[in-house]
Amino acid sequence: FVKPKGPERIFKVVFVGDSGVGKSSFIHRFCNDSFKGTFAATIGVDFQIKTVEQDGHIIALQLWDTAGQERFRSITKQYFRKADGVVIMYDVTCESTFTNIRNWMLSVEEGVDDGTVLVLVGNKTDLIDQQNSGVVKTKDGNKLADEYGALFFETSAKSGSGIEETIDGLSSLLQEKE
Ligand code: GDP
Repeated sequence: FVKPKGPERIFKVVFVGDSGVGKSSFIHRFCNDSFKGTFAATIGVDFQIKTVEQDGHIIALQLWDTAGQERFRSITKQYFRKADGVVIMYDVTCESTFTNIRNWMLSVEEGVDDGTVLVLVGNKTDLIDQQNSGVVKTKDGNKLADEYGALFFETSAKSGSGIEETIDGLSSLLQEKE
């Protein structure tokens, strides 16, 4: 009889960013490997747990969705309490969601401690086409992430592109945490 291996550590990761950028879709895609068109903002659980294997270690990620609080700009300090990581998300096709990242960063910096892992994510890359000139450029995302000492990834919760890379990058920094 081999005892199944449980996770060695559990990390709390919270998601922030404007309403509609795809936070719920990202979490759903990662936890269920599927894309769902609509979410009821008021129903549902606070977080989902997913275990991942990272460098031979099994860790659990507790992924917290804002449950629609961001619509009312009422994200409380409590939401960031004991967060090991924060994913700050914008929509690559919507400039204002990128501009707002600076506001989100103010709340984040107020709510977390120095060791918290930060990841900036530009979501909805599947909507970019060659002619689309109004989108947020990759280099601008990179630059902003650098400024805040955050990792940077571009994803599509719809196609699944970039999701694994984001979770891998996040998990490997979480593993290095004390
Ligand atoms: P949240 O408010 O940040 O949690 O955003 P949701 O996950 O509820 O997504 C808002 C809308 O954008 C929904 O209609 C989703 O289906 C859609 N959406 C989310 N991610 C993507 C994506 O990567 N590509 C596309 N095309 N649509 C997306």
